Amino acid sequence: MLDDVYKEYGGYFYVPMTQGYSVAVPVTIGCSWDKCLYCDLNQGNRFKVLGLEEIDKRLNILYKFYSNRRRPVERVVLAGGNPFCLNTDILMQIIHLIREYFPHVKNISSFARADDILRKSKEELLALKKLGIGELSIGVESGNDEILAFHNKGVTREDNYRALKRLEECNISYSTYIMLGLGGKRLSRENAIDTASLLSMLNPQVIIVVTLVLFKNARLVEKVRRGEFERLNTLDSIKEEKLLLENLQMKNTIFNATHKTNAIILKGKLPEQKAMLLRKINKALEEYDLKSIRNRDIYRWKNWSLE
Ligand code: SF4
Repeated sequence: MLDDVYKEYGGYFYVPMTQGYSVAVPVTIGCSWDKCLYCDLNQGNRFKVLGLEEIDKRLNILYKFYSNRRRPVERVVLAGGNPFCLNTDILMQIIHLIREYFPHVKNISSFARADDILRKSKEELLALKKLGIGELSIGVESGNDEILAFHNKGVTREDNYRALKRLEECNISYSTYIMLGLGGKRLSRENAIDTASLLSMLNPQVIIVVTLVLFKNARLVEKVRRGEFERLNTLDSIKEEKLLLENLQMKNTIFNATHKTNAIILKGKLPEQKAMLLRKINKALEEYDLKSIRNRDIYRWKNWSLE
């Protein structure tokens, strides 16, 4: 029944980690930027916006699918690489449509890039919040400008800072994705320290930690082959995570490093559980021997192509 709703997304249908229990409403296919070196999430899909009529059709199917549930739908996520790139008027029309089908919705989330947020005024963001926008998910990735520029992220540390501060001023909650290993071997320390310093000036609800994976179709593969980027091994990515965590000074944030790309699974509240998380990392560092790390690397990367 739902195949028709998500037909363009193929095997790469993804929503923010914090939105696993939200109903995903297709809004865009692919990402409006689609230039980050490490990314192959869009699988060659050119960016496309589904029109209101098409969204309406799919909402109709979703409505039928969820109508016999005991609890009404209260959480929705706009599906697509960055549906928040749409202008405010269109987003508002989409939200009104969603509310016609799911009147009990309390939160509407979306992936968003910093520039998608910065294109919206504070007034526009407040209007979207009033309609239920919250728990946005922003791929900050790194707090270091050299790393962001190398990977062609298209936004700077300052852009990320200004965008997230603007959300905070509008009281719109958000999570940030950050990526271990994005600086490779050369900029591992900078990735940890600069990302920690950026996040420490902000107040995300959740920090989602992922580890760089060399996807077969990502543009990064060429850079690795040419020796322009050296990936961290598993041990070094754990060390980077330790440095990141040591330098994070958060006020009230969940540190969620449970993503499947990570070497160790960690989750805890900051600042309260920082010492516990560091103890787990230290234990992992003590227990890993080189052989198991090498085997683990081979096991971990074999499906995702190698340089
Ligand atoms: S902004 Fe996100 S989805 Fe778009 S290309 Fe970059 S990593 Fe991929």
